[in-house]
Amino acid sequence: MKKILVTGSLGQIGSELTMRLREIYGEKNVLATDIRHVDGNPVVENGLFDTLDVLDGERMQKLVNDYHIDTIIHLAALLSATAEQKPLLAWNLNMGGLVNALEVARNSHCQFFTPSSIGAFGLSTPKDNTPQDTIQRPNTMYGVTKVSAELLCDYYFAKFGVDTRGVRFPGLISYKTLPGGGTTDYAVDIYYEALKNKKYTSYIAKGTYMDMMYMPDAIDSIMKLMEADSSRLKHRNAFNITAMSFEPEEIAASIRKFIPEFTMDYQVDLVRQQIADSWPNSIDAAAAKEEWDFNPQYDLDRMTKSMFENLAKKLGNPFGEPVLV
Ligand code: NAD
Repeated sequence: MKKILVTGSLGQIGSELTMRLREIYGEKNVLATDIRHVDGNPVVENGLFDTLDVLDGERMQKLVNDYHIDTIIHLAALLSATAEQKPLLAWNLNMGGLVNALEVARNSHCQFFTPSSIGAFGLSTPKDNTPQDTIQRPNTMYGVTKVSAELLCDYYFAKFGVDTRGVRFPGLISYKTLPGGGTTDYAVDIYYEALKNKKYTSYIAKGTYMDMMYMPDAIDSIMKLMEADSSRLKHRNAFNITAMSFEPEEIAASIRKFIPEFTMDYQVDLVRQQIADSWPNSIDAAAAKEEWDFNPQYDLDRMTKSMFENLAKKLGNPFGEPVLV
């Protein structure tokens, strides 16, 4: 990775990944793009930024030519909950943007990364310790686009030799940028509400286990996979990765270690609950560990501590009492 283009760079992942890539590879070597332009956002202000709609393949190719890009990190997509509300838009954006980005990577010999998701699994997938290679029959539009994307990336590697790589991200938890309409967003919202109101109403039901990961581990995993020796990679485009699996009561218990008065009740949202029910309880990340030394650093309590430290700095503490971090 010497000259990197990031699409969808103002989102939850891109806003942190871009800043880290600039630190490591140099400000002039990372071109951040998004369909939006947000004044004052560090991604826009502190380095190269241009607007790009990923459905405009010609413009993407021009940017890659103009900036001599050799690596594309393609993040622009519609997430699971929003995709269920707007399935046709999700298909058009998730597949149309991807095929444009893959075509540009093919034409310009770029290394290529795009994330898949635990949403690529479905009701008939084994739910516990879900294997790397298993049944994938998702019943959501998001899942349909993610399985298709995994296959398309495999195809571009096999047919055209494009160096495509990817992971199946679990729910990602972060404090910098709010998540963009996924099913696991509750596990971010809960920290904000705990700090602001000491209570939270969960839209995901008690007992619903899903895989999760703290953003620093997600960012490291992208860079580690992209830098990995290609000859070690057997599963190029869809490595299961996870750092923890929990259900709402367990994240609430972790929060109570820092805010003892925290309480939680439930108002289950059927759409997001049905999506969550179709996903695994916990996935097996053995292939990622074997093939490129995937090694997450944050478990639930370590993540909770870091979330509160950083959110308290970001939001201030409305109660004027220190959180026990
Ligand atoms: P996000 O919704 O936070 O950000 C997506 C970004 O894409 C936004 O800034 C949006 O403005 C931009 N965008 C939308 N339409 C566009 C278009 N036509 N052209 C260019 N940009 C456009 O998403 P995220 O959480 O950062 O996710 C990035 C990728 O990671 C997606 O492929 C997503 O499926 C995958 N993923 C995310 C998670 C998670 O928990 N965040 C988990 C699994 C997989």
